[in-house]
Amino acid sequence: MPHTPSEPAPAAPVAGTAPVRPAAVRRQVTVPMRFPDGYATSARVFTFDGLADGREHLALGLGDWRRSLTRSANGGRPVLVRPHSECLTGDVFGSQRCDCGPQLREAVERISEAGGFLLYLRQEGRGIGLYAKLDAYALQDTGLDTYEANVALGHGEDERDYTTAAQMLLALGARRVALLSNNPDKAEQLGRLGVHVESRVPTGVHVSAANVRYLATKATHSAHTLDLPMVD
Ligand SMILES: [Zn+2]
Repeated sequence: MPHTPSEPAPAAPVAGTAPVRPAAVRRQVTVPMRFPDGYATSARVFTFDGLADGREHLALGLGDWRRSLTRSANGGRPVLVRPHSECLTGDVFGSQRCDCGPQLREAVERISEAGGFLLYLRQEGRGIGLYAKLDAYALQDTGLDTYEANVALGHGEDERDYTTAAQMLLALGARRVALLSNNPDKAEQLGRLGVHVESRVPTGVHVSAANVRYLATKATHSAHTLDLPMVD
């Protein structure tokens, strides 16, 4: 989205205040997917040129995403989108310390049904990286919560940035979206970056004995809209 003429173009975009630089679809390829529980679908995987941080983020077009884009552009229902931040331990190895794996699995099926996009964002450990996330796990084992551990390591509580998510959505033509997320910060950041978030669709809550404290901390600390009947 172009900045207004009265504003000087900033030398370096500042997250949350500057319009995003345009990115472009670089290539697209179809990838059949099968999850460990047997659920199978197919994704149109998009790569991009011009993403702000130079990392290899992906957009997965799921279900009838073309029809959803057309419908949204014509004023109908907005495109269903989940920005999912990479979590190697949860997404790939099935770690029970967080709920990323089940969130990813749920999002792929729901978006496949509705037609839309899953954005796979390469920002591990709330943006602090894989090794630092594992360091934070070690600190959590001494009693710190997930946010305190990040701060103890000299990081922000949450360093994720959705600039590249906005760039990908705008490059795909998805200007009006329904966000599949419990995180109000994602909707707020995308809105400031030029993506019109028309609604937020809550995801399910995937509680296990190992992640219940993590989920409770997320709910109380960062206004995640989680209903946790198992937690006092
Ligand atoms: Zn995770």
